[in-house]
Amino acid sequence: MNTDLILEEIKKKIENLSDEQSLEQTGVVTEIGDGVAKIYGLSQAKSMEMIEFEGTDVFGVILNLERDTVGAIVLGETEKIIAGSTVKSTGKILEIPVGEAMIGRVVNPLGQPLDGKGEIKTDLMAPIEKIAPGVITREGVNTPLQTGIKAIDSIVPIGRGQRELIIGDRGTGKTSIAIDAIINQTKIAKEEGKDPVISIYVAIGQKESKVAKLINTLEETGAMDNSIVVLAGASDPASFAYLAPYAGASLGEFFRDNGRDALIVYDDLSKHAWAYRQISLLLRRPPGREAYPGDIFYLHSRLLERAAKLNKENGGGSLTALPIIETQAGDISAYIPTNVISITDGQIFLENDLFYKGIRPALNAGLSVSRVGGAAQIKAMKKIAGKLKLEMAQFRELEAFAQFSSDLDADTKRQIERGRRITEVLKQVNNQPIPVAEQVITLYAVTNGYFDSYEVSEISALEKTLSTKAKGEIADVLKSISDSGVIDEKCEEKLTAFLKENTKGIDKA
Ligand code: ATP
Ligand code: MG
Repeated sequence: MNTDLILEEIKKKIENLSDEQSLEQTGVVTEIGDGVAKIYGLSQAKSMEMIEFEGTDVFGVILNLERDTVGAIVLGETEKIIAGSTVKSTGKILEIPVGEAMIGRVVNPLGQPLDGKGEIKTDLMAPIEKIAPGVITREGVNTPLQTGIKAIDSIVPIGRGQRELIIGDRGTGKTSIAIDAIINQTKIAKEEGKDPVISIYVAIGQKESKVAKLINTLEETGAMDNSIVVLAGASDPASFAYLAPYAGASLGEFFRDNGRDALIVYDDLSKHAWAYRQISLLLRRPPGREAYPGDIFYLHSRLLERAAKLNKENGGGSLTALPIIETQAGDISAYIPTNVISITDGQIFLENDLFYKGIRPALNAGLSVSRVGGAAQIKAMKKIAGKLKLEMAQFRELEAFAQFSSDLDADTKRQIERGRRITEVLKQVNNQPIPVAEQVITLYAVTNGYFDSYEVSEISALEKTLSTKAKGEIADVLKSISDSGVIDEKCEEKLTAFLKENTKGIDKA
């Protein structure tokens, strides 16, 4: 068929439609390709509404509402649809299955299983996009979400309901931080016998092999028992990458709205933005800055607003979000990074230089912030973290300066040496989250000078020895810190006695 014939056909169909059926619920495909369709008609359609392509088992979702036409993404084989096909609206916003039954599963953005573990039995459905809870139903962040990563729980603590961005170049350890946080939730739950925080990991446009490895890690550590993975892989169409974060958010909201705590990781929103840009350009929406459509900011802010800490009257549940953004050559001032930085409550900024120097996690302590998490930090950690942050800030300044001068006064030298030891203590291999009470003991020791008489190279081993010994000798102190969140006088006495006995002490430097 040549184009004129198709156009003729479409025109005829449209005329017929106007006679017989209402153009409100029905439309005709005018353009189709690359996973998107332009449709004439469907004047009553809503954004995110599902539509059926008649005569096929393919359906689509409406994305773009214009005067006479709508733009839709096709979820299925685009080849089955031709220009001139009739389209029917379903009146239903795209929904996905949610609920307890989803835990432990790997699903696509439509909630269909990808793990070969059989059908998911749940009657609960939730729309893929819902208005975020209003201010009146929320309360301030007041409970920590322990990641088990020393550098984060001390310097950029995260609270339940918070949105903390993880940002950095390729291969700087972004995913690892999120995975550690997920693993730690199961670890804490097992150790303390509490309800676990349910984690949702949304993989957007990543290589399937990479995600498979990651699922393996979650399974080996037992974390998969309390997690859901939503996967839109690199080989899936852009429409799946576009939908994945919404599907994940809906899964998380189920727990949030039922008084539970959930954590969601969007890995990553850069790829989500690319998918949306691709779809939008295909739908010929006007490109804005960096060719992204003008509403990309609104899209991401709506998504991240769904993270919340609800108040008691509304069940007290929470959804914490860790969106990830990939930067190019550390440029955090590009369009998408600045957008997401301004939407979130802080960022964990990872740096290439630090990563290759072996400082892992490669957290830039100067540029990383958590604007609300401090309110959720346990008191014992907060007290130590204040000192630690100050020492680190002084160290950063002095270190740069010390490169140019050889004779430094004793005090400057001492501060530099302390900084080096703190830096060493904040290193941590991935997949090994540390309970907060153990973190407190190590950080207490280093900030109070108990590591000053050791070489930097000895510190990692010393830290391990101390941790093991502490679990045997001052188990009551560890328990008291993790139960009460504070180091009271009695604890501090025991802790100092323990450190004096098991280190070279403070004065022998
Ligand atoms: P990408 O941009 O490709 O998604 P990423 O920023 O998510 O990468 P990861 O995949 O988390 O980075 O980590 C990159 C590599 O560094 C992995 O091989 C990981 O095992 C390693 N790595 C990450 N964190 C640490 C750590 N704390 N200690 C040691 N190795 C680490
Ligand atoms: Mg990654």
